[in-house]
Parts: sequence; structure tokens; C-alpha cells
Amino acid sequence: MVPRLAPRCPVRPFPWQVACSAGAFVRQSTCVGASRTPVWGRLHGVQGTTPLVRRGSSSTSSQAPGVALTCERYPVRRLPFSSVSEDDLATFERIIPGRVITDPEELAASNVDWLRTMRGCSKVLLKPRTSEEVSHILRYCHERNLAVNTQGGNTGLVGGSVPVFDEIILSTALMNQVISFHNVSGILVCQAGCILEELSRYVEERGFIMPLDLGAKGSCHIGGNLATNAGGLRFLRYGSLRGTVLGLEVVLADGTVLNCLTSLRKDNTGYDLKQLFIGSEGTLGVITAVSILCPPKPGAVNVAFLDAVGPAGEDHRGAEPGRLCVQVRPLPARGQALRPGD
Ligand SMILES: Cc1cc2nc3c(=O)[nH]c(=O)nc-3n(C[C@H](O)[C@H](O)[C@H](O)COP(=O)(O)OP(=O)(O)OC[C@H]3O[C@@H](n4cnc5c(N)ncnc54)[C@H](O)[C@@H]3O)c2cc1C
Repeated sequence: MVPRLAPRCPVRPFPWQVACSAGAFVRQSTCVGASRTPVWGRLHGVQGTTPLVRRGSSSTSSQAPGVALTCERYPVRRLPFSSVSEDDLATFERIIPGRVITDPEELAASNVDWLRTMRGCSKVLLKPRTSEEVSHILRYCHERNLAVNTQGGNTGLVGGSVPVFDEIILSTALMNQVISFHNVSGILVCQAGCILEELSRYVEERGFIMPLDLGAKGSCHIGGNLATNAGGLRFLRYGSLRGTVLGLEVVLADGTVLNCLTSLRKDNTGYDLKQLFIGSEGTLGVITAVSILCPPKPGAVNVAFLDAVGPAGEDHRGAEPGRLCVQVRPLPARGQALRPGD
């Protein structure tokens, strides 16, 4: 099957040369949305443009000087996709009125990755708000043989968030609604474009924390976190997203909505399809909603300093290479400064 989503497999040197079978796991599913809670909590201050994204745009003119086009930098071949026509733009405008971006200045930031090492030349950025809109867009692109590149907060570090050629950029920036939160179990169900930091704030106000935290939290989306299987600062304590994510809703390349948005802690029914999409970097479908288990907020946080040098300057590193003996030193009492040797 011809892939309709731009293929990405970042562990490979030139991933765009690999044709992943985007529709391999297509199955008919119930159309989501009908059973959703009608009142979705809106997150405060959620914007499409956030500090890290602005980092890309502030220094990027429409031509993004200094960032070579990926297709000129690497020996890559454009697969035989169609190019976006005026008719296509008109159709997108009918599906998501006022959210079809073709202004080169606005597109510039979305064409360049966070590290400013990859640059595509997409001519159109689409900003759907709902899974149904994503489904309509992908169904149309599938029929028209148009390539699509999903983009969350555009903070990914392996170039997967930006097009290689002229793929349509499908941004989840406006899919930023909390669908439900259970105050006892800590199960959060939200759209994929919610910014991680905003979600953290939302659940912390309710006595919980997000099970992941990372430097890009002010910009990255929870959908992007899942698509990259992000780890981050809380990984050792709370484990991988493969354990904390309870369910997903995904729109496949042909527009089929795969509804696995369960919030069951223990779900033994059938295949665990969500695992396919965690870490898939957008190659298998667009993650549109997430159900995730949030741990209770700790009552206190202690900081331990780990040191390999003893109070008298002795070296506590082990004789064997790679072996390290560490001392855990207590923090000074409240109000007292940390002295050398403490
Ligand atoms: C300062 C900084 C610190 C970081 N720290 C860590 C860290 O501690 N641990 C770690 O693991 N990573 C870290 N990262 C990288 C991390 O993977 C990304 O920042 C983040 O997870 C990507 O989320 P995003 O929304 O920005 O996705 P994007 O960058 O927009 O996209 C990343 C990939 O996911 C795909 N994608 C995005 N959204 C969706 C979706 N809804 N459905 C399907 N596919 C989608 C894109 O196509 C792309 O392939 C860091 C990055 C930065 C800039």
C-alpha cells in the first residue's frame, strides 16, 4: 500500500527513503466523538505558538536562511505523491474554514525543526480542532495521494516533525482540550494537542502530576510525547509511557478512526494496539486523543546530592571501570546554607 503519511523511522540514517506501510493496521472502527463529554475543559493560556516554537520562528524568515533544505542536503527521492492544487486548498477550506495556512511567513517556522537542521518546503499548514476534521482531511489526502506530516509542538530532535519535501503539515496545535479528568483515579483523557506543561498545571491543581516531565514541556504536545515515546525526568520513578498510557484514539492514513480510548486500568481484551502508535513518530496514523494515568502529587520532594569524593577528598570511585560508589549527603537544615564539604 502506498503510504499516505510521510514515512519516518528516525533510527535509520535516511528514513524518508523507507516506505512504511501506513495502512497496515487499518480496521473499521466506531466513529468517535458521539460518546464524548460535551463540556470539554479548556486549558488556560494554551496557544498555538509557544516559547520554543517562537525560537524557531523568530530567527526564521520565510526562506529560513542558514538552514539547508533537507532534500538538498541528503540524497533523498520524493515518492510519487500528488502536489497540492488550488482545488485541494478549497476542499481543506471547506473542512476547516479559516484554518488553512498558506502564508509563507507563517509556514516558515513549521517547515524548520527545533534544532534548525532540517527544513522542508511545505506550502500548506492545516489546523484541525477535532478527530472528525482530522479524519476528513486524511480521507481526502488518501484519495488524492497527498503526503501528510503530523506536527505537534515541533520540539522533536530527530527531524520527524517537519516535512522533507512539500508534505502537508497537519498541526495538532488547536486540539488542546481536556475531555475528562477523574479526581480519584487520576485518569486524564485529553486531545493530543494539549501542551504538556498546561496538562501538568491542570492535574496539579487537582492533586496529581503528569507521569512525564521534560525540558520541552512548554511547547511539546502530549500526542508528540507519545509519538516519540518521550522519557524525561520522571521516567525512573513513574516508568515509560507504554505503562502509563491507558488508551489512544488514532486516525489512520485513510481516515479511519481507531478508537482505543479506554480508561480501564486493566484491559485484557484483544490486542494492545495502542503500543504500536507509541514511539511510531507519526508513521502509522495521527494520534488525536489520549487517556493517561496520572500519579498522585507527592506530599514532599527531597533532593539528594550524590558525590564520589569523600569529606577528606578521598576518591570513592570503584577500582573497576564503570563502578561508582556514591555518598548520599543530607541537606542542611532549613534556612542554613550549603557549605563546602556538606
Ligand atoms: C529542550 C528539549 C528537551 C527534551 N527532553 C527530552 C527528554 O528528556 N526525553 C525525551 O525522550 N525527549 C526529549 N526531547 C525530545 C522530545 O521527544 C520532544 O520534545 C517531544 O516528545 C516531542 O513532542 P512534540 O509535540 O514537540 O512533537 P513534534 O516535535 O511536533 O513531533 C515529533 C514526532 O512525533 C510526530 N507526532 C507529533 N504529534 C503527533 C500526533 N498527534 N500523532 C502522531 N504523530 C505525531 C511527528 O510527526 C514527529 O515525527 C526534548 C526536546 C527538547 C527540545
